[in-house]
Amino acid sequence: LVSREVKAEDSQVRVGDLTLGGAAIHVIAGPCSVESREQIISTAQAVKKAGATMLRGGAFKPRTSPYEFQGLKGDGLALLAEARKETGLLVTTEVKDTATLDAVAQHTDILQVGARNMQNFSLLEAVGETRKPVLLKRGISATIKELLMAAEYIVARGNTQVILCERGIRTFENMTRNTLDLNAVPMLKALTHLPVFVDPSHGIGVRKAVPAMMRAAVAAGADGLIVEVHPDPPRAKSDGFQSLDFSEFEKAMGEVRAIAAAM
Ligand code: PEP
Ligand code: MN
Repeated sequence: LVSREVKAEDSQVRVGDLTLGGAAIHVIAGPCSVESREQIISTAQAVKKAGATMLRGGAFKPRTSPYEFQGLKGDGLALLAEARKETGLLVTTEVKDTATLDAVAQHTDILQVGARNMQNFSLLEAVGETRKPVLLKRGISATIKELLMAAEYIVARGNTQVILCERGIRTFENMTRNTLDLNAVPMLKALTHLPVFVDPSHGIGVRKAVPAMMRAAVAAGADGLIVEVHPDPPRAKSDGFQSLDFSEFEKAMGEVRAIAAAM
């Protein structure tokens, strides 16, 4: 169902009054985790001013260690809803399991399925039963084919509103957090009609290098980006080392717009 052979034209995903996968590049930006009202509202205002059209923020966080910050959970969802109301930005947050799916679906415009859950087939089936747009992130060691088959699980249940997201894969390289596989962008664009987003933050995992990968992703043909932005990255409760501050994000957005306009 997700193959270009079945449907030649690009599919568009409608979220509120936005069209993802159309002519315009859309940028989702915000903190790795929602931490406080002040943090999420100030970030929402800053990323909106810089040109982002959607806000991200984790509430249920799948952390590598059980002793790390696990997110504000329900309180985080409520704060996202406040930020949405305050700024008009649409929001996306990760749905970590089927148990919290209903709560997350009520408070978000796009359900984010994280890399660690890309092959959680029960979760894929459950989000496939909803009619909410889904941002499906590539698994840490998943092939392009496996990503497409994970999307197929969702679409096969009747939810056609799927956006794919390249977010870096695990390789032998350890200077960076992951290896952002920009090869995946033109490959996916050829293989599927679904919109393709890129997450340069998790993809490289090095704050100063994120803007270069934002530019590169757009040049490679991505339909959009999801970028981590925090008011004070060194103090972030998760992923501060790869989060841009407001002025870094604003500058990078100007560069991204110039590249998009030249294409
Ligand atoms: C995130 O977006 O903060 C996240 C946990 O991403 P991923 O699932 O790609 O690791
Ligand atoms: Mn993160």
